[in-house]
This record gives sequence, C-alpha cells and structure tokens, in this order.
Amino acid sequence: MTLIRLIRATQSEADLRRTYDAIVVGSGAAGGMAAHVLTSHGMKVLLLEAGKQLDIDKELKSTEWPYDHKRRGEMPPDSHALSLNEYNIRQPPYASDSKAKHVYSYVQGWGGSDYSKNIVVDEKDHPYTGTNYAWVRARLLGGKTNIWGRLALRLSDLDFKAKTHDGYGEDWPISYKDIAPYYDKVDLYLGISGVKENVPHLPDSIFQRPIKLNAAEIRLRQSLKKMNRLLTPYRAGVTTDGLKHNKYRSKCFGRGACNRRAGGCDIHAAFDSPTGLILPAMDTGNLTLRTNAIAHQVTVDPKTGKASGVAFIDAETGRTYEAKAKVVVIAASTLESARLMMLSKSNAHPNGIGNSSGHVGHNFCEHIMGPHITGLVKDLVGKPRTLDDGKPGSFYLARFRNLSERNPNFIRGYGFEGGSGTTMFPGNATSTPGFGSSYKKNVRDYAGAFMSMGAFGEVLARYENYVDIDPAVKDKWGVPVLRFHYKFGDNEKKMAEDMANTAQEMFTEAGFEIVDVSRRILTEGWSIHELGTARMGSDPKASVLNQFQQSHDVKNLFVVDGSSHVSASCQNPTWTIMALAWRSCDYLADQFKKGSL
Ligand SMILES: Cc1cc2nc3c(=O)[nH]c(=O)nc-3n(C[C@H](O)[C@H](O)[C@H](O)COP(=O)(O)OP(=O)(O)OC[C@H]3O[C@@H](n4cnc5c(N)ncnc54)[C@H](O)[C@@H]3O)c2cc1C
Ligand code: SF4
Repeated sequence: MTLIRLIRATQSEADLRRTYDAIVVGSGAAGGMAAHVLTSHGMKVLLLEAGKQLDIDKELKSTEWPYDHKRRGEMPPDSHALSLNEYNIRQPPYASDSKAKHVYSYVQGWGGSDYSKNIVVDEKDHPYTGTNYAWVRARLLGGKTNIWGRLALRLSDLDFKAKTHDGYGEDWPISYKDIAPYYDKVDLYLGISGVKENVPHLPDSIFQRPIKLNAAEIRLRQSLKKMNRLLTPYRAGVTTDGLKHNKYRSKCFGRGACNRRAGGCDIHAAFDSPTGLILPAMDTGNLTLRTNAIAHQVTVDPKTGKASGVAFIDAETGRTYEAKAKVVVIAASTLESARLMMLSKSNAHPNGIGNSSGHVGHNFCEHIMGPHITGLVKDLVGKPRTLDDGKPGSFYLARFRNLSERNPNFIRGYGFEGGSGTTMFPGNATSTPGFGSSYKKNVRDYAGAFMSMGAFGEVLARYENYVDIDPAVKDKWGVPVLRFHYKFGDNEKKMAEDMANTAQEMFTEAGFEIVDVSRRILTEGWSIHELGTARMGSDPKASVLNQFQQSHDVKNLFVVDGSSHVSASCQNPTWTIMALAWRSCDYLADQFKKGSL
C-alpha cells in the first residue's frame, strides 16, 4: 500500500464539534514530534497541516534514472527557480512580475528538480515582502523534513551558555544536561548514523552504523587532527541499521538518491516526519489529521485570555472553520509560527497572542553561508572509479573557532559540510574544456579527484533583525504575509572572511591543490535554518516562552519549533528542535494530567 493510502486508511474525519485535548499546528519535525509525544501520553490530538498529503513515494521516485525521465529530471520549462542574483538585485515578493507559470525558491535550481516541484511552495501563491531573503518553504504533510539534508547535530553548553562564554546575547534557560536525555530519545526513536568522537562542543549521539569516509576524506581528517580540528563522517538523521519499532521505514541501502537531488528518500531510511512520527502517532488511535488546513488565528476565550482553539481556512475550498482544544501547540516552523502569533490579535492580546513582551518576530537568526572551496587531490587523478555518492552524506568538519581561544575579529563559530570522490554526475564535466574522446577521458580521469566543502556559521540573534506583518500584501488565501527586516551584520561578514581563509589553510595543509575559493556571501535565508522569533527565557519582558516552550502570557499555549531557540549556534537545528519538542510535550502532558493548564 502506498504511503498516502496508508495515511488515508488510518485517518478519521476531523470532528470539529468536539473539544480536543490539544491542537498541533504544522506537521514537520516539530509538529510531528508534538503529535507523537502527546498521543503517546494518551492525549487526543488534532493535527492541522496547511499543506496537502502528497503521494510522496511516487513523487520522489528515488531510483528513477535520468534517462527514464523525459527532461532528465528537470522541471517543465514554464517553471522557474530563483537565482542568487535575482534574490539580491530584486526585492521581494520575487515572483510578482515573473512571466513563468510557477516560481520556486533556489532549491529548485538543483538537479532533479522535477521530483521536488510539488514539495516546495510556489512563490506566486506565497509572497513575502521587505528585505532580501531566500525563504525556502515546503507546505505538505511533513513539511521540510520530506527533503531535508539529514545532517543531525547536537548543540552543547558552548551554545546553550554562549553569553556566559563570550558576553553576547542571552543564555538559553536550559543546559545540555536538561536536553541530553531527549537527544538520546530522538536518536533511538528515529535513528542516526555517525562515529563517536568525544568532542565536548559537538556531543556524540547514540549512533547506528556510520557512513564511511573515502581515502581523500581520511587524509583530510588525519591532517586536521594535527591542527586539533575534527572531521567526522556525516552525522545523518538516517537509520542505517533499521528500526524494529517502526514498520514504515527501511534501513538505508546507500542508494544516494537523497544526496543527488534536493533530498528525500522513498524508502524512508532518511527521517521524515510522516513515517517517523505521524503514522506511528496515528497507530495509537489518538491522532486526528486535517490537511489543507491553513491556521490563521489562535482563538481566545475572552473570559480567561487562554487559547480556546484554532481558526483555519481550507486550502482547497477557501472555507473557514474553527477547531477547539484545551491546549494549542504551534509548530508551523520558525517564521510561520511567528506570523500566526502576530495574526492572533484579540482584546486580551492586542499585540498578538503571547506577545506582551513585543519580542515575537524579533531576535531572528540562522546560519550564514557562502564561502566554500574546491581542491584537487592530485594523486587520485586517473585512478579507478569508486562508489562515493551512494550514501546519505559525506563529512562534517566541526567548529574550531572561539573554543578556548578568542578570535580578535568575531565571536562564535562555524563548521563545514563537504564531500569528495566519484559521483554519478561528474561535476567537472561542464567546466572541462574540449570535445571528443580526449574531453571524455579528461572528465573521467579527474571526476573522482575533487574535494569541496562549504561553511555554515552562526548569525547572532539581534532584536533589530525581525519579521512583522505586512499591512498591505496577502497570500493566495487572503492571509497577510510576513515582511522581513533582516540583514547580516559585521560579525557575520568578518566570520565569512575567516571561513574562506581557513578553508584554504586546511586544504593546503592536507596537500590538496586549490582549484577554487569563493568568498561571496549567499543571500540571507540560504541556510534554511531560520530560528529565534519567539525565544525562550526566564524574563517574560525579554522573552516569549519559558524553558518548556510554554508562553509566558498564555499557559495553555506552546510553541515547539525553532522559533524558541535563543541563539543559532552553528550546528544544524533539526535534531535540537525535536529533542526540545519532546521535552516540552512531556512537560505539557504532565501539566495537563494535573489540570494545571
Ligand atoms: C533542502 C533542505 C535541506 C535541509 N538540510 C538540513 C540539515 O541537513 N539539517 C538540519 O538540521 N536541517 C536541515 N533543513 C532544515 C529542516 O528541514 C528544518 O529545520 C525542519 O524541517 C524544521 O521543522 P519545523 O517543523 O519547524 O518546520 P517544517 O518542517 O517546515 O514544518 C512546518 C509545517 O507547518 C506547516 N504550516 C506552516 N504554516 C501553517 C499554518 N498557518 N497552518 C497549518 N500548518 C502550517 C507547513 O506546511 C509545514 O508542513 C533543511 C531544509 C531543507 C528544505
Ligand atoms: S542513501 Fe539511504 S537515505 Fe539516501 S536515498 Fe538512499 S536509502 Fe535513502
């Protein structure tokens, strides 16, 4: 049975006359986790998802060869993917004057874009305004987890207590020891591959079988060791050994499809929220799923000021509905959650629900990207081909700046993601000059000899980086859109210079010939790691949520996605989003049972 049939068979009609124990808004990493944890505690949950249910396995077709696709995997010609220059030169809304029938974010400029065109949003229907920002969204059951890049990292006390370390910003209201048991639960429930390294600032997970490094990567790892830096196999949110407790997911067979396209795995070895969390939650009999349900307001009981439910628009019919619940959990992703909170104005909450501090939408942060390097591992030229891209990722190079030393130019740090070796589509084919048999030989000889990596750095959380509601522009469904007021600052720019310099230093040290170094910073938003628009904290005047992602103002309102993060760190956020959501929903269920919400 295909996944969509399975979901439909399990799904019961949403009954909007009853009052649910909890409504969860959004079904991605955060919402899926909330649904899983709350239903496992016996709570009756209504999950509202704005997007559709896609027959995802048919969509992804992970094993389809390029020559079996009429456009070799590319989108139809009437569809357009935004380029870096468009993001920088033009102003949002980027699709407003485009002649293309469909306009998508830059992710659709990657190979195999036809397989993800129904997963990411059409910018024509989903405009936003303000400063330049490359906003990547996926509106469907499971959200961005359907195509995420799978790098699953933990944060450490260097991140949670960053202010204590360098004096900037705010510490998180939790420490590593508070979240560590929940990282463990996420590891065991969802599966993660990697190697234990015992590095305090990149804590180990409970790993399944690791992805193997190839010869060139091992050489770089050894060279970096001498510099006291760590290169480790990609810590992939992928089950490599299988999960006995989950019948919807297979173990990874190293087909590499997730790595060659925008992402996605049609046997669900890579974590995605529908098979990892939502289907198991449905099996409890406690979950009701309503897709095509665009939440536009958290409703409020005027007598108590508490949340009473969620008003939503049916994405297909445009009709409006209201669902009732004793607790509301927002998990619509960092920016959409802030939008929903700001749209939820009432007499009790004139500034938007949970926003008496005025911090909703503010302290917005993410990761800066751009600087990257390509090197040639000369002694691999002409060597026999090896299978290097039949895996869900290659390597991660952990942060090494501002650990015990203090960089004079910037605070915080960055890591690199990279890879090397033979790939199904030799990247050097388009840049190699010539034609005929000598051209082909050249391409083949060099195809497996390149190594490249790109950096992800912490963008500082700043109050003046924020989103608000545009008073004039609405989306296709008449919901006011977000307006960005967000720019990289001096710290990020200086960090980016250092990224390019250290990349060269490390490749030179390893004996690689440097072919290309890019110093250009990509448009804000490129990392797809947006965080911090409803941050946690212990001071209700300077934060939106407490340490359990519970609103300071409205005790039966929780916001369990990346909007709660106090700072961005430089590690990819999804594993932390899920560990925190698990912790908060355990707390929520306990408080619910005690009648304290
Ligand atoms: C190409 C790509 C690569 C990535 N690589 C990595 C990586 O390697 N490592 C990593 O940690 N992270 C990665 N990410 C980011 C990762 O996908 C996100 O951190 C994660 O999905 C966030 O989970 P979320 O639940 O907050 O948001 P989402 O997964 O986006 O889910 C939010 C859901 O809420 C729904 N929604 C939105 N608004 C409403 C509304 N008003 N009403 C109802 N529902 C609503 C959306 O339709 C969506 O389904 C990547 C993302 C992409 C796209
Ligand atoms: S490499 Fe593994 S996770 Fe990636 S598509 Fe293949 S089976 Fe799925």
